[in-house]
Amino acid sequence: MKAKIAVLAGDGVGREIVPEAIKVLKAVAEKCGHAFTFTQGDIGGQALEKVGVPLPQDTLNLAKQSDAVLLGAVGGPKWEGLDYSLRPERALLGIREALGLYANLRPAKLYPNLAEASTLKKEVVEGIDILVVRELTGGIYFGKPKGIEKLPNGSERGTNTEVYTTEEIRRIAVVAFEAARRRRKKIVSVDKANVLESSELWRRVVTGVHQDYPDVELGHMYVDNAAMQLVRNPRQFDVMLCNNMFGDILSDEAAMLTGSIGMLPSASLGAQVGLFEPIHGSAPDIAGKNIANPIATIASAAMMLSFGFKLDKEAELVEQAIVKTLDLGYRTKDIQSPGMRVVGTTEMGDAIVRSLG
Ligand code: NAD
Repeated sequence: MKAKIAVLAGDGVGREIVPEAIKVLKAVAEKCGHAFTFTQGDIGGQALEKVGVPLPQDTLNLAKQSDAVLLGAVGGPKWEGLDYSLRPERALLGIREALGLYANLRPAKLYPNLAEASTLKKEVVEGIDILVVRELTGGIYFGKPKGIEKLPNGSERGTNTEVYTTEEIRRIAVVAFEAARRRRKKIVSVDKANVLESSELWRRVVTGVHQDYPDVELGHMYVDNAAMQLVRNPRQFDVMLCNNMFGDILSDEAAMLTGSIGMLPSASLGAQVGLFEPIHGSAPDIAGKNIANPIATIASAAMMLSFGFKLDKEAELVEQAIVKTLDLGYRTKDIQSPGMRVVGTTEMGDAIVRSLG
């Protein structure tokens, strides 16, 4: 297949890890007979320096005209004092909104041999492979009324509104069921239906969508129990379907089970172009030293292959190459352990390309 990929490396380690993911995508394209083209765009602090805004219109146009977006990271201490409208991080919200990315997919997978990186016991986390599907453009972060108002007695009142429509719930549920079909076919939908009406509707709509996916097992869990079960017995989960706020919290909890932020990819999907990025930031403390772990970004490229282009076989090749490289003992500094071979960012990228065979 042919695909146009917009490349937004951004700031800090973004500029080091994204080229490694491109290396891997090029190798996969060559191996499997695909034609991927890569076009660089500006985003974040780097765009701010160049053209005065963190998300230039040219970048948005490029993203919209592409089949997928590969993003590194944005931000850094240099821009921390700026007004919020100019902060590099604004570009993330801007591009997500412009592309209508309503579904955020975050896998939390523990690679073999990395169990010791988790703060939980090895026997609890070994073998976990969870996908959190989070609704990204609705719920309490966007609902109205919202704000802080002064009361006549001099006190103040802060308000946010948790609101979901049938359509918003249905489309994120469809993403979760489709994803489950390509995994172990099991969904736990997270809500607080014992207390919240919006959750009652959520549960009803998700149950309705389930009728179209009889091959997928659906369970429901209250969010407080889900938070507990994630640390008690995380292996019970395959896909966790969450609203915006519950997904925000539980995806961080699930991610941390695996121990290393440098390993975790994400995909944000909408009606058309998907955006694929590591979950970590620009890591200014290690930027420019060739020590950042590129695996989160390479795994994001694998998500691009499967969720963006429906190239599941190719995505699996990349996943297997990551596993093989770790099995061979290659480690970047953040995941090093005694007896392993510590390599830099570019060497890890090269080793994964070699493991593709
Ligand atoms: P961070 O994720 O950049 O770094 C947190 C810690 O993890 C640091 O110690 C860092 O060295 C380490 N780390 C991160 N990625 C790594 C990798 N690939 N390999 C090895 N170690 C890695 O979070 P932060 O320090 O809180 O934020 C730094 C900047 O990034 C801030 O400006 C923040 O706003 C921004 N940020 C951007 C994004 C994004 O672009 N999506 C996300 C989070 C934070």
